[in-house]
Amino acid sequence: MIPFRNEPFTDFSQKENRKAFEDALDKVRSQLGKEYDLIIGGKHIKTENKVDSINPSNTKQVIGVVNEADEKLAEHAMQTAVDAFAWWKHVEPAARASVLFKAAAILRRKKHEFSAWMVLEAGKSWPEADGDTAEAIDFMEFYGREMLRLSERQPVTPLVGEQNELVYLPIGVGAVIPPWNFPLAITVGMTTSAIVAGNTVVLKPATPTNVIAYQFVKILEEAGLPAGVVNYVPGPGPVVGEYFVQHPMTRFISFTGSREVGLRINEKAAKTAPGQKWIKRVVAEMGGKDSIVVDEDADIDLAADSIVKSAFGFAGQKCSACSRAIVHQNVYDELLAKVTEKTKSLKLGEADDITIDLGPVVDDKAYNKILEYIEIGKKEGRLVAGGEKGDDSGYFIQPTVIADVDPQARISQEEIFGPVLAFIKADSFDHALEIANNTEFGLTGAVICRDRLKLEKARKEFHVGNLYFNRKCTGALVGVHPFGGFNMSGTDSKAGGRDYLLLFLQAQSISEAL
Ligand code: GLU
Repeated sequence: MIPFRNEPFTDFSQKENRKAFEDALDKVRSQLGKEYDLIIGGKHIKTENKVDSINPSNTKQVIGVVNEADEKLAEHAMQTAVDAFAWWKHVEPAARASVLFKAAAILRRKKHEFSAWMVLEAGKSWPEADGDTAEAIDFMEFYGREMLRLSERQPVTPLVGEQNELVYLPIGVGAVIPPWNFPLAITVGMTTSAIVAGNTVVLKPATPTNVIAYQFVKILEEAGLPAGVVNYVPGPGPVVGEYFVQHPMTRFISFTGSREVGLRINEKAAKTAPGQKWIKRVVAEMGGKDSIVVDEDADIDLAADSIVKSAFGFAGQKCSACSRAIVHQNVYDELLAKVTEKTKSLKLGEADDITIDLGPVVDDKAYNKILEYIEIGKKEGRLVAGGEKGDDSGYFIQPTVIADVDPQARISQEEIFGPVLAFIKADSFDHALEIANNTEFGLTGAVICRDRLKLEKARKEFHVGNLYFNRKCTGALVGVHPFGGFNMSGTDSKAGGRDYLLLFLQAQSISEAL
């Protein structure tokens, strides 16, 4: 087996790549407005409840019409997944991994088409969508290899007179509830890690990106995944998601999304349902309030570039996004001027235009919430860039910088999940680190600094799951930067790392006296 390597990103400076992507966009545009069914046990099911998926760049454009499940269909999906687990768990790990490798190969062939779906359904820019598809391929290549590794003989200490081994077994049916912000990568990662480990899945996709999730489920089918192993069950979170979370046959819940929903899931999952035979496992990756700390001796251009990229990539809709720049007072004004200038030069526009830097936010809920936070921010600090909505044809919000923000201000503490950056002045490097640790989150963080001793101090004291030095704080790569956060950012599951599959497995020790 070739060792795992990350899928390269597409170089859009090459004319032929731009042409191929345009062609993919055209192809996807020709398919807009179709109806998408539930898929349970391989069977397509239509329902009375239908929801439109909308292009956030152009809210008049319907991407697809999606059938939604109710509790009865959620129950049917759960029973189907329970039945499928009875035999899928016995399928050889190597065979399960082969499904992932095949699906990765298919996705690689249809790469631009999938990215194009994300441009239109999620409002991702071309490079952001391309990165998302590459990460989806990576997750399948990585987890397939991980399962092969875990199915090998595991080391146990030899004991005379006994033959001992430790094996990893699947655990059961998982409710997979992914987010809309990495609608392909995270959906693929959460789903395929569960099934390659021998579990079966009821998948409740994020409503704004139901169609992308459907396309992925079709790829699994094309790759030979037997019916019933992954069941596609879109529907409202409070109905379908909660039904799965509370179901006695649910063995684990794999969730990525907001802190609010994650905590509710954790609470509901902790309550034992009648007939339930296990403690449900909850894997929850939640929010962030991520900071970039800039020291007085830092390379200021590098700092400005890292902050702007981390704050405004995909309109700040990443749990890893930099929403606070915490800057040493001696370079504060200089850096603020650079960041303001860079932010003002960013081009906001429809995501299918290759020249944009950032597109819209995902839906009306996000749009209204972010605009409210900008109003709060205008009172809590000094607006230096953006601060307004963009064109009304979509959910456009200008990239916004608010300076002189108090570390305890709401826009410094609460997750906004949009293109809003708070600039905070620190008296010293130590003070900056103290501020960086002052939220309830702990997902990503970066330090821009040349001083080795200060970097070492940050290494020990900056309490985040993904810590970066002299670079941006977004863009974790599978296998390279296993991803997950501390405190209210979640269970630190480290997606894309060597510990991840163990979350969906249980170890059995088998000892035979000789
Ligand atoms: N893994 C992504 C990154 O490093 C963020 C994932 C998320 O926003 O959920 O930027």
